[in-house]
Amino acid sequence: MPFAITGATGQFGALVVTRLLERVPASEVVAVARDAAKAAPYAEHGIPVRLADYDDPVALTAAFAGVDRLVFVSGSDVGQRVRQHRNVVEAAQAAGVGFVAYTSVLHADRSPLLVAPEHAATEAMLAASGIAHTLLRNGWYHDNYASALAAARSTGLLLTSAGTGRVASASRADLAEAAATIITTESPEPVYELSGDAAWTQEELAETLGAIVGRPVQVWHVDAEQHATELRAQGLDEATISFLVATDAHIAAGALADTPGTLSRVLGRASTPLIDTLRALA
Ligand code: NDP
Repeated sequence: MPFAITGATGQFGALVVTRLLERVPASEVVAVARDAAKAAPYAEHGIPVRLADYDDPVALTAAFAGVDRLVFVSGSDVGQRVRQHRNVVEAAQAAGVGFVAYTSVLHADRSPLLVAPEHAATEAMLAASGIAHTLLRNGWYHDNYASALAAARSTGLLLTSAGTGRVASASRADLAEAAATIITTESPEPVYELSGDAAWTQEELAETLGAIVGRPVQVWHVDAEQHATELRAQGLDEATISFLVATDAHIAAGALADTPGTLSRVLGRASTPLIDTLRALA
């Protein structure tokens, strides 16, 4: 059982499994998941499933038994991930996993993004663990803009406080393909800063959304305070509002703008354009 993927029932993990199965036999892939019902399709297709929650160190250690290479997909329980990820790293250590590829965030070591500290803490745990590993520092998914697409369709507006900040987003599918490529590479690099080839402005995003929804989409530039007021009026909860407004401030400061070309180098082709991903989600 050389390969295992945590979060295998999530959107990213499932795409990694698919791409991995193009490279290695199903018998060599273990899907690690916390929900047996969600994982059932894997078992039906002959892919071994092991059940473990990030909150259950014993189950995690058992799940990683005999695993050589692990794709460790970061959890989605923001605020709980330092404890949960410590469980994963310690279980990998206890089980003798040979190599870990962890899905971090672009420039986790210096990023102002609110999600960065949990990723940086996990990176530090991996460094301290002595397990050979690589950091898949993923930028923003194109797919995150599905809600902007829906809003553009109904209002013809793109609300933003990101100003002139650019976003070098990439499709979730491309980032998952990169993870599968890297985990099957004999000697992966220590860190991959993975972002799309193009860093777009809000005006370019609006143009893209407009082309898909078939109506002109106007950028509605607001400051952080008005942004929060407008999101509140839409009924969003305060935690989500704080996250979205802070993210736009960080985008304005360039936190997601880098285009080092690493993703396309790993893929051996250009990264998928924003419009292709959003059109498929429309
Ligand atoms: P998903 O929410 O689709 O998947 C998250 C996965 O983590 C799921 O499989 C979920 O299990 C699993 N998970 C969460 N908590 C636990 C836990 N306590 N124990 C075991 N498994 C757990 O997100 P994506 O697949 O799209 O993204 C993968 C990760 O990337 C996210 O978890 C998040 O850390 C990060 N992310 C990155 C974004 C970006 O733009 N770069 C955007 C959003 C998230 P289950 O299937 O049972 O729910």
